[in-house]
Amino acid sequence: MEKLLAMPSKILILGGTAEAREIAALLIAGGHDVTSSLAGVTTEPVLPKGRTRIGGFGGVVGLRDYLNSENVEVVVDATHPFAALMSAHASTAVVNTSTQLLRFERLAWLPSAGDNWHSVDNIQLAADFLPYNARAFVTTGRKELQPFFQRDDIGGVVRTVELPHNDVPIAWRVILERPPQTLESELALFENEKFTHLISKNAGGSATQAKLIAARTLNIPVVMVQRPNKPECETFSDIQALIKRLGT
Ligand code: NAP
Repeated sequence: MEKLLAMPSKILILGGTAEAREIAALLIAGGHDVTSSLAGVTTEPVLPKGRTRIGGFGGVVGLRDYLNSENVEVVVDATHPFAALMSAHASTAVVNTSTQLLRFERLAWLPSAGDNWHSVDNIQLAADFLPYNARAFVTTGRKELQPFFQRDDIGGVVRTVELPHNDVPIAWRVILERPPQTLESELALFENEKFTHLISKNAGGSATQAKLIAARTLNIPVVMVQRPNKPECETFSDIQALIKRLGT
Protein backbone atom coordinates (compact mmCIF):
# COMPACT_ATOMS: atom_id res chain seq x y z
CA MET A 1 0.00 0.00 0.00
CA GLU A 2 1.41 3.40 -1.01
CA LYS A 3 2.05 5.71 1.92
CA LEU A 4 0.25 9.05 1.48
CA LEU A 5 2.48 12.07 1.80
CA ALA A 6 1.60 15.05 3.92
CA MET A 7 1.77 18.31 1.98
CA PRO A 8 4.13 20.09 1.71
CA SER A 9 6.92 17.54 1.92
CA LYS A 10 10.62 17.98 2.42
CA ILE A 11 12.12 16.48 -0.71
CA LEU A 12 15.69 15.81 -1.82
CA ILE A 13 16.12 15.37 -5.57
CA LEU A 14 19.24 13.52 -6.68
CA GLY A 15 19.79 15.27 -9.97
CA GLY A 16 22.19 15.94 -12.79
CA THR A 17 19.60 15.43 -15.52
CA ALA A 18 17.17 17.63 -17.43
CA GLU A 19 14.27 15.67 -15.96
CA ALA A 20 15.52 16.32 -12.41
CA ARG A 21 15.36 20.04 -13.17
CA GLU A 22 11.84 19.69 -14.53
CA ILE A 23 10.76 17.70 -11.46
CA ALA A 24 12.29 20.33 -9.13
CA ALA A 25 10.41 23.16 -10.87
CA LEU A 26 7.10 21.29 -10.71
CA LEU A 27 7.47 20.28 -7.06
CA ILE A 28 8.43 23.83 -6.05
CA ALA A 29 5.42 25.15 -7.96
CA GLY A 30 3.32 22.61 -6.03
CA GLY A 31 4.49 24.05 -2.71
CA HIS A 32 7.01 21.39 -1.62
CA ASP A 33 10.26 22.16 0.17
CA VAL A 34 12.81 21.00 -2.41
CA THR A 35 16.58 20.69 -2.43
CA SER A 36 18.34 19.43 -5.57
CA SER A 37 21.65 17.66 -5.24
CA LEU A 38 24.34 17.66 -7.94
CA ALA A 39 27.51 15.60 -7.94
CA GLY A 40 29.69 18.59 -8.83
CA VAL A 41 31.40 16.89 -11.76
CA THR A 42 30.41 19.55 -14.31
CA THR A 43 32.24 22.88 -14.20
CA GLU A 44 29.27 25.03 -15.17
CA PRO A 45 26.20 22.92 -14.38
CA VAL A 46 22.75 23.97 -15.52
CA LEU A 47 21.20 24.68 -12.13
CA PRO A 48 17.66 23.66 -11.24
CA LYS A 49 15.15 26.07 -9.73
CA GLY A 50 15.25 26.37 -5.97
CA ARG A 51 17.82 25.30 -3.41
CA THR A 52 20.80 23.23 -4.51
CA ARG A 53 23.64 21.44 -2.79
CA ILE A 54 26.69 20.37 -4.75
CA GLY A 55 29.15 17.51 -4.19
CA GLY A 56 29.10 13.91 -3.00
CA PHE A 57 27.57 13.03 0.37
CA GLY A 58 30.43 10.77 1.40
CA GLY A 59 28.90 7.38 0.58
CA VAL A 60 25.90 5.74 2.22
CA VAL A 61 26.80 6.93 5.72
CA GLY A 62 27.15 10.54 4.60
CA LEU A 63 23.86 10.42 2.72
CA ARG A 64 22.05 8.86 5.67
CA ASP A 65 23.44 11.58 7.98
CA TYR A 66 22.27 14.23 5.52
CA LEU A 67 18.76 12.75 5.32
CA ASN A 68 18.55 12.64 9.13
CA SER A 69 19.93 16.09 9.80
CA GLU A 70 17.78 17.71 7.11
CA ASN A 71 14.64 15.71 8.04
CA VAL A 72 14.18 14.66 4.43
CA GLU A 73 10.85 12.88 3.96
CA VAL A 74 11.23 11.85 0.33
CA VAL A 75 14.25 11.21 -1.88
CA VAL A 76 13.54 11.46 -5.59
CA ASP A 77 16.34 9.68 -7.40
CA ALA A 78 16.31 11.39 -10.79
CA THR A 79 19.93 10.64 -11.62
CA HIS A 80 21.05 9.47 -15.04
CA PRO A 81 20.30 5.79 -15.81
CA PHE A 82 24.08 5.13 -15.72
CA ALA A 83 24.63 6.76 -12.29
CA ALA A 84 24.39 3.34 -10.65
CA LEU A 85 26.46 4.05 -7.56
CA MET A 86 24.41 7.06 -6.44
CA SER A 87 21.18 5.09 -6.91
CA ALA A 88 22.57 2.15 -4.96
CA HIS A 89 23.65 4.48 -2.14
CA ALA A 90 20.19 6.07 -2.02
CA SER A 91 18.51 2.65 -1.81
CA THR A 92 20.70 1.57 1.08
CA ALA A 93 20.57 4.89 2.93
CA VAL A 94 16.77 4.83 3.32
CA VAL A 95 16.59 1.25 4.68
CA ASN A 96 14.97 1.23 8.16
CA THR A 97 14.24 4.96 8.02
CA SER A 98 10.95 6.76 7.43
CA THR A 99 12.36 8.44 4.30
CA GLN A 100 10.66 7.26 1.12
CA LEU A 101 12.59 6.66 -2.07
CA LEU A 102 11.02 7.22 -5.47
CA ARG A 103 12.90 7.02 -8.73
CA PHE A 104 12.42 8.72 -12.05
CA GLU A 105 14.03 6.85 -14.92
CA ARG A 106 13.63 7.59 -18.61
CA LEU A 107 12.55 4.70 -20.76
CA ALA A 108 15.42 2.99 -22.53
CA TRP A 109 15.72 3.39 -26.30
CA LEU A 110 14.59 0.45 -28.39
CA PRO A 111 15.85 -0.32 -31.88
CA SER A 112 13.39 0.25 -34.69
CA ALA A 113 13.27 -0.82 -38.35
CA GLY A 114 16.48 0.12 -40.12
CA ASP A 115 18.60 0.19 -36.95
CA ASN A 116 21.71 -1.96 -36.80
CA TRP A 117 22.48 -2.20 -33.07
CA HIS A 118 24.93 -4.43 -31.28
CA SER A 119 24.25 -4.50 -27.52
CA VAL A 120 27.11 -4.80 -25.03
CA ASP A 121 27.19 -4.79 -21.24
CA ASN A 122 29.99 -2.32 -20.69
CA ILE A 123 32.35 0.16 -22.33
CA GLN A 124 35.28 -2.27 -22.53
CA LEU A 125 33.14 -4.66 -24.57
CA ALA A 126 32.07 -1.76 -26.80
CA ALA A 127 35.70 -0.94 -27.55
CA ASP A 128 36.52 -4.64 -28.08
CA PHE A 129 33.69 -4.95 -30.60
CA LEU A 130 35.05 -2.32 -32.98
CA PRO A 131 36.77 -3.82 -36.03
CA TYR A 132 40.28 -3.01 -37.19
CA ASN A 133 40.48 0.49 -38.70
CA ALA A 134 37.09 1.58 -37.36
CA ARG A 135 36.38 5.29 -37.37
CA ALA A 136 34.28 5.59 -34.25
CA PHE A 137 32.00 8.26 -32.83
CA VAL A 138 32.22 7.75 -29.07
CA THR A 139 29.41 9.43 -27.10
CA THR A 140 29.62 7.47 -23.85
CA GLY A 141 31.05 10.28 -21.71
CA ARG A 142 34.51 11.24 -20.55
CA LYS A 143 34.84 8.74 -17.69
CA GLU A 144 35.80 5.57 -19.55
CA LEU A 145 37.70 6.49 -22.69
CA GLN A 146 40.80 4.40 -22.05
CA PRO A 147 39.41 1.20 -23.67
CA PHE A 148 39.09 3.14 -26.95
CA PHE A 149 42.32 5.10 -26.62
CA GLN A 150 44.29 1.92 -25.88
CA ARG A 151 43.50 0.58 -29.35
CA ASP A 152 46.10 1.91 -31.74
CA ASP A 153 44.27 0.56 -34.80
CA ILE A 154 41.16 2.77 -34.46
CA GLY A 155 40.37 6.47 -34.17
CA GLY A 156 37.58 8.98 -34.55
CA VAL A 157 35.76 11.52 -32.46
CA VAL A 158 34.86 11.62 -28.77
CA ARG A 159 32.04 13.97 -27.81
CA THR A 160 31.87 15.04 -24.17
CA VAL A 161 30.50 17.92 -22.11
CA GLU A 162 33.77 18.39 -20.22
CA LEU A 163 37.36 17.79 -21.34
CA PRO A 164 38.47 14.16 -20.87
CA HIS A 165 40.92 13.47 -18.05
CA ASN A 166 42.96 11.21 -20.34
CA ASP A 167 45.60 12.32 -22.81
CA VAL A 168 43.94 12.15 -26.20
CA PRO A 169 45.86 10.09 -28.79
CA ILE A 170 46.51 11.70 -32.16
CA ALA A 171 43.99 9.48 -33.94
CA TRP A 172 41.18 11.01 -31.88
CA ARG A 173 39.51 14.43 -31.86
CA VAL A 174 37.41 15.76 -28.97
CA ILE A 175 34.23 17.74 -29.51
CA LEU A 176 33.03 19.58 -26.40
CA GLU A 177 29.29 20.02 -26.63
CA ARG A 178 26.19 19.82 -24.46
CA PRO A 179 23.04 18.15 -25.76
CA PRO A 180 20.60 18.54 -27.39
CA GLN A 181 21.86 18.10 -30.95
CA THR A 182 19.76 18.41 -34.09
CA LEU A 183 19.42 15.71 -36.71
CA GLU A 184 20.83 18.10 -39.31
CA SER A 185 23.99 18.75 -37.32
CA GLU A 186 24.40 15.04 -36.52
CA LEU A 187 24.03 14.05 -40.16
CA ALA A 188 26.60 16.65 -41.20
CA LEU A 189 29.04 15.43 -38.53
CA PHE A 190 28.62 11.74 -39.49
CA GLU A 191 29.21 12.55 -43.14
CA ASN A 192 32.15 14.92 -42.61
CA GLU A 193 33.89 12.55 -40.22
CA LYS A 194 33.12 9.37 -42.22
CA PHE A 195 32.20 7.41 -39.10
CA THR A 196 31.96 3.66 -39.43
CA HIS A 197 30.43 3.11 -35.94
CA LEU A 198 28.51 5.03 -33.28
CA ILE A 199 29.09 4.07 -29.65
CA SER A 200 26.31 5.13 -27.29
CA LYS A 201 25.03 4.40 -23.81
CA ASN A 202 21.35 3.51 -23.73
CA ALA A 203 20.55 6.76 -21.99
CA GLY A 204 17.02 7.13 -23.37
CA GLY A 205 15.27 10.48 -23.75
CA SER A 206 15.09 12.87 -26.65
CA ALA A 207 18.04 15.20 -26.01
CA THR A 208 20.69 12.84 -27.39
CA GLN A 209 18.55 10.75 -29.72
CA ALA A 210 19.39 12.58 -32.97
CA LYS A 211 22.67 10.66 -33.30
CA LEU A 212 20.72 7.38 -33.38
CA ILE A 213 18.45 8.66 -36.13
CA ALA A 214 21.50 9.87 -38.05
CA ALA A 215 23.10 6.42 -37.71
CA ARG A 216 19.88 4.77 -38.93
CA THR A 217 19.60 7.18 -41.85
CA LEU A 218 23.19 6.53 -42.95
CA ASN A 219 23.09 2.80 -42.16
CA ILE A 220 25.90 3.09 -39.58
CA PRO A 221 26.12 0.32 -36.96
CA VAL A 222 25.54 1.36 -33.35
CA VAL A 223 27.33 -0.27 -30.43
CA MET A 224 24.81 0.22 -27.61
CA VAL A 225 25.98 -0.08 -24.02
CA GLN A 226 23.14 -1.47 -21.90
CA ARG A 227 22.10 0.15 -18.64
CA PRO A 228 23.55 -1.02 -15.34
CA ASN A 229 21.09 -2.60 -12.91
CA LYS A 230 19.76 -0.34 -10.19
CA PRO A 231 18.16 -1.62 -6.97
CA GLU A 232 14.37 -2.07 -7.11
CA CYS A 233 12.25 0.81 -5.91
CA GLU A 234 9.03 2.56 -6.87
CA THR A 235 9.95 3.94 -10.29
CA PHE A 236 8.28 6.34 -12.71
CA SER A 237 9.09 7.02 -16.33
CA ASP A 238 6.44 9.71 -16.55
CA ILE A 239 7.17 12.98 -14.75
CA GLN A 240 3.51 13.89 -14.27
CA ALA A 241 2.78 10.52 -12.65
CA LEU A 242 5.64 11.07 -10.22
CA ILE A 243 4.43 14.58 -9.39
CA LYS A 244 0.92 13.25 -8.83
CA ARG A 245 2.27 10.54 -6.54
CA LEU A 246 3.85 13.29 -4.46
CA GLY A 247 0.47 14.88 -3.97
CA THR A 248 0.92 17.93 -6.15
P1 NAP B 1 27.78 7.60 -9.88
O1 NAP B 1 28.94 6.88 -10.46
O2 NAP B 1 26.51 6.87 -9.65
O3 NAP B 1 28.19 8.27 -8.49
C1 NAP B 1 29.52 8.48 -8.09
C2 NAP B 1 29.51 9.34 -6.85
O4 NAP B 1 29.20 10.70 -7.20
C3 NAP B 1 28.45 8.95 -5.84
O5 NAP B 1 28.90 7.90 -5.01
C4 NAP B 1 28.24 10.27 -5.09
O6 NAP B 1 29.32 10.51 -4.20
C5 NAP B 1 28.39 11.29 -6.19
N1 NAP B 1 27.11 11.65 -6.81
C6 NAP B 1 26.54 11.15 -7.95
N2 NAP B 1 25.40 11.77 -8.22
C7 NAP B 1 25.22 12.68 -7.23
C8 NAP B 1 24.23 13.64 -6.96
N3 NAP B 1 23.17 13.83 -7.76
N4 NAP B 1 24.37 14.41 -5.83
C9 NAP B 1 25.44 14.25 -5.01
N5 NAP B 1 26.42 13.36 -5.24
C10 NAP B 1 26.30 12.59 -6.33
O7 NAP B 1 27.47 8.93 -10.74
P2 NAP B 1 28.05 9.37 -12.17
O8 NAP B 1 27.67 8.36 -13.19
O9 NAP B 1 29.48 9.79 -11.99
O10 NAP B 1 27.15 10.67 -12.41
C11 NAP B 1 27.40 11.85 -11.67
C12 NAP B 1 26.24 12.81 -11.90
O11 NAP B 1 26.16 13.11 -13.30
C13 NAP B 1 24.89 12.25 -11.49
O12 NAP B 1 24.22 13.26 -10.78
C14 NAP B 1 24.20 11.92 -12.80
O13 NAP B 1 22.80 12.13 -12.72
C15 NAP B 1 24.86 12.88 -13.77
N6 NAP B 1 25.00 12.31 -15.13
C16 NAP B 1 25.61 11.12 -15.31
C17 NAP B 1 25.75 10.59 -16.59
C18 NAP B 1 26.40 9.25 -16.82
O14 NAP B 1 26.47 8.83 -17.99
N7 NAP B 1 26.84 8.55 -15.79
C19 NAP B 1 25.24 11.31 -17.68
C20 NAP B 1 24.61 12.53 -17.46
C21 NAP B 1 24.50 13.03 -16.17
P3 NAP B 1 29.25 10.13 -2.64
O15 NAP B 1 29.42 8.65 -2.57
O16 NAP B 1 30.37 10.90 -2.04
O17 NAP B 1 27.90 10.57 -2.13
